[in-house]
Amino acid sequence: MRIDLRSDTVTKPTAAMMEAITKAEVGDDVYKEDPTVNKLEEKLAGMFGMDAALFFPTGSMANQAAIKLHTQPGEQLIADKYAHVYNYEGGGVSFNSGVSCKLLDGNRGMVTASQVEEAINPPDFYHSPLTSLVCLENTTNKGGGACYDVEEIIKIHLVCKKHNLGLHLDGARLWNALVAKNEDPKQYGEIFDTISVCLSKGLGSPMGSVLLGKQRFMDKAIRVRKVLGGGMRQIGFMAGAGLYAVENHISRLTEDHKKAKEIGALLKTLDFVTKVEPIETNIIIFNVNIDEQLFLKDMEENNVHFYSMGQGKLRLVTHYDYTYEMHERFLQLLQNYPVHSVLK
Ligand SMILES: *Cc1c(COP(=O)(O)O)cnc(C)c1O
Repeated sequence: MRIDLRSDTVTKPTAAMMEAITKAEVGDDVYKEDPTVNKLEEKLAGMFGMDAALFFPTGSMANQAAIKLHTQPGEQLIADKYAHVYNYEGGGVSFNSGVSCKLLDGNRGMVTASQVEEAINPPDFYHSPLTSLVCLENTTNKGGGACYDVEEIIKIHLVCKKHNLGLHLDGARLWNALVAKNEDPKQYGEIFDTISVCLSKGLGSPMGSVLLGKQRFMDKAIRVRKVLGGGMRQIGFMAGAGLYAVENHISRLTEDHKKAKEIGALLKTLDFVTKVEPIETNIIIFNVNIDEQLFLKDMEENNVHFYSMGQGKLRLVTHYDYTYEMHERFLQLLQNYPVHSVLK
């Protein structure tokens, strides 16, 4: 039994999802003639109360397109130092948009309204880049699945309005926050100018993200997607998987969150674990005082796979394909570590 806790992207489509894929009605989406893509876009726009939506192959491309829609070359965006758009999108902010990032020292990937306001360059001071966009992430990836307090986001929204800045949400993991905090997606549609959501992480679709936004930003989105190479043809097969995921896999995220909390509770009792970061959703970040490479190797020998984030920090992510059977086995393995040989 392979237990893969590297990421929630490792899931494979279920039989029911495969059926939704094969039965999807398709057309050429570059001509906007794919009925399943159109249905998915309409559904998500409605769900968030946004004017428009556009299907993208990846979350990175949806974020990069959003950044392009909000900025001009030479300008600057504000984000937390952990931001996915800064750390894990291959330098796309500068490559695609010619924009620099002002990074804030937030808490677990989350920033405050006053931090944002202090980071805005005065627009009449022509020596510094013009600040034009704020990018937030919810839940935070590198921050360990932390959820924003919506009250703080509203304050950030007011700062952006006052200073005429765009506000984008990297919501690749937003489903987890919505479920964990029992929030209404429409609230997010009211606050943000653009939002990207992912269908292939916790929701288990093979691919796809959707960019949602106010009409004035989304008018140019299809052109930007084309420039980035993201115009797709009969992609309704994948939109069908996404629709199925949105209709069937959101509420079950609570199960991933519950398993993550159970793992965290056990980790806290183990001698070789020095710290467990707060667990709000499906990501567990913890520190060990033993040789982390040896620990990973021992786990691998027991067919349990996960990553080190460096400096003694390790990360686990629960997901759809992490079953209760695997969960029991993993908990037992941790409990007995380092006397793991008995379990082999
Ligand atoms: C995974 C992720 C993305 C981008 O995802 P890809 O589809 O792999 O490009 C963006 N933001 C966050 C916070 C993520 O976790």
